[in-house]
Amino acid sequence: MKTKLGLLYGGKSAEHDVSMQTALAVIKALDLAKFDIYPIYITKDGSWINGPKLTAPPEDVAALTFLPEKSTSPLALQAHSTDENGESTGYDVIFPLLHGPNGEDGTVQGMLELLNLPYVGNGVLASSAGMDKVIMKNIFAHAGLPQVKYTWFIRSEWEANKEAGIKKVEDEIGYPCFVKPANLGSSVGISKCDDSHSLEKAVAEAFQFDRKIIIEEGVVAREVEFGILGNDDPTCSVAGEIIPKKDFAFYDYSAKYEDGNSAMVIPAEISENEFAALSAMAISAFKSLDCSGLVRADFFLTKEGKIFINEVNTMPGFTPYSMFPLLWKHTGVDYPALIEKLVKLALERHREKQ
Ligand code: ADP
Ligand code: MG
Ligand code: MG
Repeated sequence: MKTKLGLLYGGKSAEHDVSMQTALAVIKALDLAKFDIYPIYITKDGSWINGPKLTAPPEDVAALTFLPEKSTSPLALQAHSTDENGESTGYDVIFPLLHGPNGEDGTVQGMLELLNLPYVGNGVLASSAGMDKVIMKNIFAHAGLPQVKYTWFIRSEWEANKEAGIKKVEDEIGYPCFVKPANLGSSVGISKCDDSHSLEKAVAEAFQFDRKIIIEEGVVAREVEFGILGNDDPTCSVAGEIIPKKDFAFYDYSAKYEDGNSAMVIPAEISENEFAALSAMAISAFKSLDCSGLVRADFFLTKEGKIFINEVNTMPGFTPYSMFPLLWKHTGVDYPALIEKLVKLALERHREKQ
């Protein structure tokens, strides 16, 4: 019996195009002898279109878009897929390849729960808690994970008394600090500030994207990341490091990958002790948010040897050239095997919930 896999991609988000590329790569990696693939395309304006079962891998992303006249309610997902005779059968599992708000934040996950459909990746709670940097950090603090100092504001609160807000940041956090929208990713709306003037500007900018912002102590640090895979008993990948391009020439590690502005080094050059401490924290972060399926856990590592967890991403970049799949490739799980593993974890979690 083949697994009927609904691939959910596109989306009304800044990451629409990345999602399309990811979907194409995932389809190409899937074994059509094991999977029946049903594309579910979300257009840039948010319409959902159930495409026909794929009989062969599409040539390009254009082949993964469908006529808007065919758009349906997302709720039509429950029993959309059809067998050879055109009979409606329902999906075995949905793979949401969506990043950011309305995809990675628990909204889509909640809908899939209501439809009682198994789906790849994190559930509602982990997805929404992981999307909100304030809630995420509060949970990490409770789990005893080391973090930079942080504070947060709601727009109305900040606007009611900006001077008090600035004073609070200067008393509690200091400069340099990082201002971020609470619920976003891909560095959108994030600025570094060195004084009250740049702080005020950065706060106004971040409030363009969210009614809630977080302000953090800025650190000078290496950025080291881990992939976590599993449900109740998660495992951790080798470490990877993100290196801003300007420093790139100084590094000569075993593997390097470039995407426009930075390079990835896998495995990251860290000591055994650092690996032990960081990977334990990555697992602890996964468990603290009750994650399932996958997470990428990102850390700061300072010259003085201090470690801080920065964030987790509940649906990390997932092209074959993204950090998460590359971390697993170097850990011995290649891209096709990773996708199959995630589907298996999705089905397992669904069974255990019943
Ligand atoms: P996103 O969810 O958009 O990836 P991050 O919190 O990871 O947001 O911030 C994006 C990038 O900004 C980080 O990868 C890091 O380079 C930089 N950055 C964020 N917070 C800090 C901080 N407190 N100190 C130093 N650099 C930071
Ligand atoms: Mg993020
Ligand atoms: Mg990040």
